[in-house]
Amino acid sequence: MGLKLFKSDMEKAEDEWRKAYEKGINQRKWEEAAKHFKKAYEHYTKAGNPKAEEALLLAYLFHSVATGDMSSLKKAAEIAAKLPPNTVFNIPFEITASEIANEGNIIVAELPVAVKLSKVNQLIAEGDEGKMEKFAAQLEKISQKLLMNSSKKPVLGEFFNMKEPFEKRGYRYLAYSKLLRAKIQALYDPSKSVELYSEAMGYFKIGNLATSAEGVAEEINKVGTVAKCWFCGRTIQGEDVHYVKMPAAVTPYILSKYGNEKPESLGEDYVVACRACYTAIYITSDTVARRYYEMAMQRLQEVRQELLYEIKKIWDEIERIWRAMPGG
Ligand SMILES: [Zn+2]
Repeated sequence: MGLKLFKSDMEKAEDEWRKAYEKGINQRKWEEAAKHFKKAYEHYTKAGNPKAEEALLLAYLFHSVATGDMSSLKKAAEIAAKLPPNTVFNIPFEITASEIANEGNIIVAELPVAVKLSKVNQLIAEGDEGKMEKFAAQLEKISQKLLMNSSKKPVLGEFFNMKEPFEKRGYRYLAYSKLLRAKIQALYDPSKSVELYSEAMGYFKIGNLATSAEGVAEEINKVGTVAKCWFCGRTIQGEDVHYVKMPAAVTPYILSKYGNEKPESLGEDYVVACRACYTAIYITSDTVARRYYEMAMQRLQEVRQELLYEIKKIWDEIERIWRAMPGG
């Protein structure tokens, strides 16, 4: 016990460094590892040993692994960038300072984007063009960063559930950025939108995301399809965006006369309506329906009052008869 009092700062530092492995890394207890590296850093600093920086780097790194705190990872990457690039760390796999600096920065930038991407369907459903546009730009930026690193292998990603090759991740983000831009563009320029959808599909394929590519193919079909409005006769591109198929009773005669026209304007049980005609019909019929509903409700109220009056009259009559009976 007494001996420990005489340990030098250097010895204390090395003790803590060792404990960081034994009690921390080897048992996958990351916060424990961070704690001991932090102490090692303090002792190395007192001893004036340059290994202090390495200990501090690992303290920040493992704190971020334990908590997901990206500002700690950012600090670890900053320290790594100042160390000799070939400094090797065993955590427990080998990784160099330059790899920590590079991949640390990628993860810090990518993680918030990856989280946001998991809710991309919600973003699309909300349809806020400004937000979609902003996120598309963010996706492009991170995809560039990843694709620039496509020759390298992810190492640090092991700790952050980001082990997929940089290239695959890069193409996925690029695909989603094109998809978002295609959806925005669909409202303004269906032909331009089709181009963007095609690009998105290509990137989904390169990124090995077959199901997403299939979904996009379906959307391209719709945005690319041209039809003629049955009501106004205008030719419109973009099913479900700029025109819809309205259910209708189409007689065999009408179908045989107009069913083969190109672009199509009707089918067996529908007619094509451009958005303008469709919404005009919809809004008008809605207004008419509401007026009829209000009229019906008012009439119902009148009938109710009449009935209540009649019922009261009957009760009064019953009471009168009752009182008139002998002993009533
Ligand atoms: Zn129309």
